[in-house]
Amino acid sequence: MDPDLDWDQHARCRSHDPMLFFGPNRFEPKRERLAREAEAKAVCATCPCLRACREYAVTSGELYGVWGGLGEADRRDLLAGRRSVATAV
Ligand code: SF4
Repeated sequence: MDPDLDWDQHARCRSHDPMLFFGPNRFEPKRERLAREAEAKAVCATCPCLRACREYAVTSGELYGVWGGLGEADRRDLLAGRRSVATAV
């Protein structure tokens, strides 16, 4: 499989509740958010589309959710140049 071709069709998250990646619409306590994001990132770590997904999220400026193993704060840090892509997961 070419992970760059139709990568979203092969995404591991397709078989998970989107709430795991995006959280509830209401306020989410920090401890719950960190636990949820860690679980979502663990799914991403097994996904063949991780690189394509991450590149999409970073270049398109996705503000919300876990994409390509990166949470919202991770992407903000990356864009601010505080952390390299290699160390972000
Ligand atoms: S890297 Fe994560 S968010 Fe992206 S497609 Fe794969 S499982 Fe979904």
